[in-house]
Amino acid sequence: MRNLLIDSAIVGMWVPLTHFNLLPSVVLITVTTYDKFSTGVRRLWLHSLPGMLGTGVLTTLLLRPEPRLESSLLVVCFSLTVIIVHSMAVSVASYRLIRTVARQNRQLEEMRRTDAQTGLVARSHWQEQASHHLERFHTHGEPACLLMIDIDHFKPINDVHGHTVGDEVIRAVGQVIRECVRAHDHAGRYGGDEFAVVCGNAHAPQARAIAERIRERIATLRLRERPELHLTCSIGLAETQRSQLTLRDWINDADTALYRAKHQGHNRVAGPAAAPSAAPAVPQPT
Ligand code: GH3
Ligand code: MG
Repeated sequence: MRNLLIDSAIVGMWVPLTHFNLLPSVVLITVTTYDKFSTGVRRLWLHSLPGMLGTGVLTTLLLRPEPRLESSLLVVCFSLTVIIVHSMAVSVASYRLIRTVARQNRQLEEMRRTDAQTGLVARSHWQEQASHHLERFHTHGEPACLLMIDIDHFKPINDVHGHTVGDEVIRAVGQVIRECVRAHDHAGRYGGDEFAVVCGNAHAPQARAIAERIRERIATLRLRERPELHLTCSIGLAETQRSQLTLRDWINDADTALYRAKHQGHNRVAGPAAAPSAAPAVPQPT
């Protein structure tokens, strides 16, 4: 900023030194003032004016140059060169800036979409995807199923082994879910120890197979640092229904099924259509 202000002060000197030659004076003042705008610093151009005016007045008083407004062809050519070079430099700088901003916006969007802990889709973006599926069901009749997955007895894991192990469990469960779903399903972290999956173009039996796969994989999951820790999860399944007008309705149905799975003893998949699957006896977390 200091350099830019000095730049303006030097231009203030140049104007009387050129005998107020109109073309180079206007070009120099315009170009240096433009530079202040392009920094994005608020009112920098305004702060540069006193220095420019001051050196201009001082040089005029000292040298008392005779005004010569008209320019020779040589001066016109030099002035045009300054305009062209400056415009190109500003264009290149703006181009680079726009590319950088666009790249950073993409990175921000990616961060907004991804849950940092699990690498799964974050809740807000998952909700957008789930809403599209519900919309497609209402407009084209394409079925979809929602799985709400909650780790069983997760609080005691935090309490007994600490939050670091709890975080590790969430990461590992997220990884299992990612591996168990199909390419066109959408798995997301819903919040806390709860995950949500939309199984696209699937009826309840297909979704139940995916849910069972997830449940079984989690029941056999072992953390390298804590092999003694046994994990289970409960899963609520809800297929798209005409009565579900909003995503909230669909999630509520899956939540009700999840509650039923918990209520019936954890470590099971529950859906409104079929009876809960029998669960093998799995030890509680230690
Ligand atoms: P239930 O079997 O009925 O699900 O019981 P639960 O103990 O798992 O209860 P609940 O699902 O309500 O527990 C969620 C806990 O998860 C509460 C909160 O302290 C913890 N939690 C939420 N987010 C995180 C996280 O990112 N890391 C860790 N370590 N804990 C979390
Ligand atoms: Mg839980």
